[in-house]
Order: sequence, then structure tokens, then C-alpha cells
Amino acid sequence: RPVIVWLRRDLRLADQPAFAAAAKAGPVIPVYVLDDETPKHRKMGGASRWWLHHSLASLATDLEKIGSRLILKRGVAAEVLAKLAKQTNAAAIHCLRHYEPWWRNAERALKGQLSEGCALECHHGNYLMPPGSVTTGSGQPYKIYTPFWRALAQHMPPPEPVPAPKRLDAPQSWPESDTLSDWDLLPTKPDWAKGFAEEWTPGEAGAAERLKAFHARALHYEACRNLPSVEGTSRLSPHLHFGEISPATVWHATMEAGGSVETFLKELVWRDYAQNVILQYPDYAKANARDGFDKFPWRDPSDPDVAADIRAWQQGRTGYPLVDAGMRQLWATGWMHNRVRMVTASFLIKHLLVDWREGEKWFWDTLVDADYGSNATNWQWTSGTGVDSNMFVRIMAPLTQSEKFDAAGYIRQWVPELAGLSDKAIHDPEAAGKYVKGYPKKLIGHKEARERALAAHGKIKA
Ligand code: FAD
Repeated sequence: RPVIVWLRRDLRLADQPAFAAAAKAGPVIPVYVLDDETPKHRKMGGASRWWLHHSLASLATDLEKIGSRLILKRGVAAEVLAKLAKQTNAAAIHCLRHYEPWWRNAERALKGQLSEGCALECHHGNYLMPPGSVTTGSGQPYKIYTPFWRALAQHMPPPEPVPAPKRLDAPQSWPESDTLSDWDLLPTKPDWAKGFAEEWTPGEAGAAERLKAFHARALHYEACRNLPSVEGTSRLSPHLHFGEISPATVWHATMEAGGSVETFLKELVWRDYAQNVILQYPDYAKANARDGFDKFPWRDPSDPDVAADIRAWQQGRTGYPLVDAGMRQLWATGWMHNRVRMVTASFLIKHLLVDWREGEKWFWDTLVDADYGSNATNWQWTSGTGVDSNMFVRIMAPLTQSEKFDAAGYIRQWVPELAGLSDKAIHDPEAAGKYVKGYPKKLIGHKEARERALAAHGKIKA
């Protein structure tokens, strides 16, 4: 009897426990189900769909090289898989466990629908430790990152990564498969993803290349990670999100860099932490963890002036060069530097006084690494509404951040109309008295915005 491997955000062969277990069990049927119904309004955003298309194409090629295939199906995952298991007389379905609330529901639903003699085997493998397993002395899950990191670090290093299976046995007959191009995952008109292909190579080989390139720079991470003009970080986030590389592989490779890499490993653990958060707060992208913020007087996005401000933020036309550079990098490549994510998010929330959930939604649609746990955790961290978060009253000054982190080169790249300005003037052309044709004036002055935000915060008890 064959076994099914149900793939979701785990699109790799190496260090993939579902494949490793299935390869030992019998002929393998690898299946990806495009399910836009189970996640409801959380279905994958546009940029993620672009990534998914290329990642699936890459995995299908890799599977063919080891004698297998990738079967594509569309529909409600639990129903599609239960039907397929019956039709192929599968002995088991192997998958990696996922922690988005809709995937937890789907795993439960599938268990209920499988006929006797076909088991659902969920493996651990996309995180350094199984989310929920790192607990306090009294067995409670952590809410705050720093003690979580300390406790998780006690269990590190993770087990050595397991190599990809050399061969997968094929079933006697293959079930029918959709054709990837029929899924229309890629944008057509306009093709907003042109710049994505220049920046990214989705798939397991592309992930390995990124890791190799980062390995050479890993010891500079601590000094460079906050400088958006420098390629100082790994850019592994979309590969990790789609599971094209395991975090254990990243951990071991980075340790081999030789010197101190703790700062990088700590960042990697934020990814585990975010899953730990959504396990405790499944609605984290929807509900403020500090409910005092439920009464916060956000500006109303249905008001045309507010809607225009949100649009200006999305399009990178706020008059704050670092904010605009970040938002344009996001649109052009599906990714934004972490420091600039913090600055742009803070700008939307505190300068424009727009509810963080508006920004979370935009990132969800436009990031190639859009991740339910990481996105919500970081938005709630920035807004001050999270279980572990920055205080709302700590308002980032985008102009100071721009100078402090030496963003001139980054601004020249993404806001080319400002490229002719000096290193000094480029952070704040208006203050330097430089009028640049086509570049907008600030939506609101920093001092005025800061006072408005603090006054709004003063109206709630949080
Ligand atoms: P590196 O600095 O090289 O870090 C290595 C890996 O660690 C990353 O690939 C990522 O998987 C993980 N990581 C690093 N920082 C964080 C963090 N703060 N939170 C969670 N994981 C982290 N990251 C996402 O993967 N998906 C998101 O949807 C996402 N949304 C964000 C929204 C906001 C408002 C902010 C401020 C941050 C968000 N991040 C998100 C976190 C972070 O910005 C990205 O993970 C990072 O920029 C990715 O670049 P990198 O791979 O070069 O990171």
C-alpha cells in the first residue's frame, strides 16, 4: 500500500521527516493541495502565490530526479486528502505539523475523515523545537521572548539534519494531478512580480545557495544586520517560511562559521517564538493581546483622507525617504529589510495613527515571506499591543533612524528621484530645504505626529 506525503510549507526533500518516514514505509505519493477555503480570509496573498508557483515547480523537478512526482490538487485539504487516501488505498498520510489555526483545524478534520487502517502521522520538523514544548518550570508556555530564548537554547543544537532520500518508490499507478499553470498563481496584467525573479530563486536549491552565501558573511551579521544599505542579513525568510530549508540546517551551517553567531541564532529563534505565540493566541492577527488597546482612537480608514494616507504609505509616497524606500522595496521584491519593516510599521501605526491590522494585511499580501505567526507577532510588537512588545509611547523617529543606520545608499536605490541629494540631505530633503520634483512633501511633521499619537494613547488605559 502506498503512503501519501501531504505538503504545505515544507517544500523540501532534505531534513524533511515526512519524506524520511514515508520513504521507509512504501511507495510514496507526494501531494500539494491548494486550499483557499480552509484558511478563509487568510488565504495566501499575492506575493506568496508567486513564490509558491516557483517553489512547487522546483520541488516537482527534484522529485522527478529521484523517481517520483508531485501530485497537485485543489480544494478543501481535509476532504481532498481523505478522498485520495481512499482512492489510492493509502496506508498512511505523513505530514509536518503546522500551527496556523486553520491548519490545526484541517489536521483534526482529516483525522476524523480517514477510514480505518489509514493513519495521519504528523511530524515535527519546521521549527527548532516543537512549538508548545518549551515551557516554564511550572509547565506553562512562555509569553515573553527572552526567557523563551534562554529555555530553548538549553535544547540546542538541534539534531543533525537528515539528507534527502536518494529514491522514492513510485506507486503502481499515479493519481490524476492538476497542472500548475492552470492554478494562475502568477500575476498577469500588470505583472507586478517582474522584480521578484531578479531577487529570488524559490526552491530547495535556491535556499541552499542563499545559505552558502550567508555562511561567508555570518560573522559580520551582528555589525551589519541593522544597515539596510548593506546585504548584512541572510535573506532566508521566504525559504524558511515555505520550508525549503530546515531551521536545523540553518543552525548547524551557521555554527560552522566559526566565531560568535549568537545574535543571528537569537533572530532565528524569533521564528519559533512566533509559533509559540499563535499556539497560545490563535487570533493573534486579529485581536490585541492587551485589550486596553481595543478602545484606542485609531483614525478611520473609511475616511477618504485616512484612506489616502494609507495609500501613500503603501506606494512609498509619505515624504519620509526611509519609509518610502522600504515600501517600494517591498513592492518591487516582496521583501523588506527588518530594520525598515520596524520603521515603516511604526510610521503607519504612530505617525499616521492607523490600526496595526491594516498594515498587517498589506504585508500579508505583499511579502514573499508573509507568515501568519511572524507577521502578527512583529506587528503587535511594534504597536505595543502584543504579549511581548515595544511600548506604544516609544515612538520611532524615521529621520533619526535613517541617519543612525546609514540608509543613504538604500534610499538612492529605492527612491531614485532623491539619488542626487547629499548623504546629509537625503534623510530629510524638506528640512534641508531641497525641493525635489515629483517627491511628495511629508504627510505629517514628526513632532506633530508624535504629539498626536501620545495624546491618542493618553485616552486609553494600556
Ligand atoms: P535574518 O536577520 O537573516 O534572520 C534569519 C531568520 O530568522 C529569518 O529568515 C527569519 O526566519 C527569522 N527571523 C529574523 N527576525 C525575525 C523576527 N523579528 N520575527 C520572526 N522571525 C525572524 N518575518 C517573516 O518571516 N515573515 C513575516 O511575515 C514577517 N513580518 C514582519 C512584520 C514586521 C512589521 C516586522 C517588523 C518584521 C517582520 N518579520 C517577518 C521579521 C523579519 O523582519 C524578517 O524575518 C527578516 O527581515 C527576514 O530577513 P532575513 O531572512 O534576512 O533575516
